[in-house]
Amino acid sequence: MDGYRRYYFPNTEALAADEVRIIALGTGRPYMRPAQANSGWLVELGNGDKFMFDFGYGTQMRFSALEIPYQDITAYFATHLHSDHVGDFGQIWVASWVGGRTKPLVVYGPSGTQPNYGMKHFVEKQRESFAWDTATRVGFLPAIGEEVEVHEFNYAETAIIYDSNGVRISTFPAIHITDGPVGFRLEWNGLTLVYSGDTTPNGFLVENASNADVLIHDTYNTVDQMVATTGHDKKGGGAVNTYIHTDPLDAGRIFAMVHPRLAVSFHFYNDFDTASEIEKQIRKSYDGALALAHDLMVINVTKARIQTRMASTGSHVYPNTVYQDAYRQAPRKPKPAISEWLLAKRLFQK
Ligand SMILES: [Zn+2]
Ligand SMILES: [Zn+2]
Repeated sequence: MDGYRRYYFPNTEALAADEVRIIALGTGRPYMRPAQANSGWLVELGNGDKFMFDFGYGTQMRFSALEIPYQDITAYFATHLHSDHVGDFGQIWVASWVGGRTKPLVVYGPSGTQPNYGMKHFVEKQRESFAWDTATRVGFLPAIGEEVEVHEFNYAETAIIYDSNGVRISTFPAIHITDGPVGFRLEWNGLTLVYSGDTTPNGFLVENASNADVLIHDTYNTVDQMVATTGHDKKGGGAVNTYIHTDPLDAGRIFAMVHPRLAVSFHFYNDFDTASEIEKQIRKSYDGALALAHDLMVINVTKARIQTRMASTGSHVYPNTVYQDAYRQAPRKPKPAISEWLLAKRLFQK
């Protein structure tokens, strides 16, 4: 642990200029539970950029525990539009606005085979559904915070979709139930992170994961674990593992093909009675560095070393304690009207 404390305590460690810090915001299955939120990863770079890859239900609870102002997030990237990957959109949009954001929310996500399967449609309808909510806020909060800058990219193309400040993020197709899902590759300062999103083992990922320092890959519970714990029969469990997600045995084969400096498995219920069998399956093919992800696992990455450990966070945090001048001074829209008959019945007015 040379140079790092045993635990990562938020706001106590400056990131070195050449360093990447990855924090698991959610590592579980679609049915979230107290120990594991749905999928989400925070990636902080030494140049000051911060990206979030997926924002499934519960991930923003983890994010708030890190006491990072929402204003500091550069952009959000969704691998696909399953609710366990984008369910906290209301949080990253409205809560970040309440929490001090004075710029539009910047979101990247894939297209689909028809317009209503794409990121733009998802964001538009989310915004529409919160019409009353946002009408109550635009008069009191910076009006610009309601705005969303959506970058919908072609799910079928392998392409660079973000290139700024020395950071390059590219997308490639994933194979997950139907057309649309993707994986991402982030390159910065000679360091590479590859994130599979949800996928069955596929060649796009292997082709796009060359020289990956960290590979975060879908790994589901074994079929036997699903039969024993969640009511699946062998056929149904097998379909989830091998047609929709990645079985641990196959995750190991992918890790062996890519040879990352660190392989990270996520998207399974990680418990004392499941982890050993999952690792055993992975180890049939792969003998390199491996982390079976827990929520709030922290990965520090430099060219010289990779360190994994857990964050130690508080429960009663105040995630945004500093309102900047820019937030106070940003233009507001007119305040919403309220009926006279409601006002007439107010009590204790000051
Ligand atoms: Zn999915
Ligand atoms: Zn998922």
